Amino acid sequence: MARTTVIANWKMHGTQAEALALARGVRRLVGNRFPAVEVVLAPPFTSLETVRRALRGSRLHLSAQNLHWQPQGAFTGEVGADMLGDAGCSHVIVGHSERRRLFGETDRDVGRKLAAALEASLKPVLCIGETLQERRAGRMRRILSAQLSGALKGVSKSVNEILTVAYEPVWAIGTGKNATPAQAAEAHGWIRRGLARRLGEAPAREIPILYGGSVTPHNAPELAAVAEVDGVLVGGASLDPRSFAAIVSAFAANDTPRTEDA
Ligand code: PEP
Repeated sequence: MARTTVIANWKMHGTQAEALALARGVRRLVGNRFPAVEVVLAPPFTSLETVRRALRGSRLHLSAQNLHWQPQGAFTGEVGADMLGDAGCSHVIVGHSERRRLFGETDRDVGRKLAAALEASLKPVLCIGETLQERRAGRMRRILSAQLSGALKGVSKSVNEILTVAYEPVWAIGTGKNATPAQAAEAHGWIRRGLARRLGEAPAREIPILYGGSVTPHNAPELAAVAEVDGVLVGGASLDPRSFAAIVSAFAANDTPRTEDA
């Protein structure tokens, strides 16, 4: 079964003092209370070390928000996978729609980044999702398939224990307009079938497929009740430890029935 996973993406927010307070808050409220849920915090690069120290000895994991596909070299402003591992990261977000849309990342770039993360034994969190225009044009499935293909090209079948996929419809990110449970279920089902085609049925079942886009403590319980949703990637609401802890708790509460159902 796929691991239930909840990830906080702090994006470009916070000084080190603020990151420390936030990480301590999450540790206090979430800590080791929800052993069935894998909880991951993704602060900006500048706060990785601060957050690493704050999480030391807990079950909480550290993630970066981006990486370069080269291990090192003349790439000013970039950070390689081994550097992230050295900084204490177990995970890295790859292909977030803000990187694709604002910084021009292509499916090919995302594929190279994913391969670099795997090579360095970092757990990649692959983000895919359609824009509103694409959804309205009936192209959601085609877009998700193309993004999956681009990212997983050349990836071996044994990535099931290390890969996480996040379905993040672009129209839902930071807009306050989350996907309905039915929309999430349809997209997640399609992604699961796409993973099965590329990696095999059994490995595909083990890959967590998270939903991301305007998740709050208010809508988390209905998303957690969707069998196809294995967790969430949370932006805005993860900047408040109480909101984030409530979201983790919603998924922990749903973990047993969801696992038995499937
Ligand atoms: C995200 O950053 O991936 C995200 C889903 O943001 P938000 O929860 O703010 O929509």
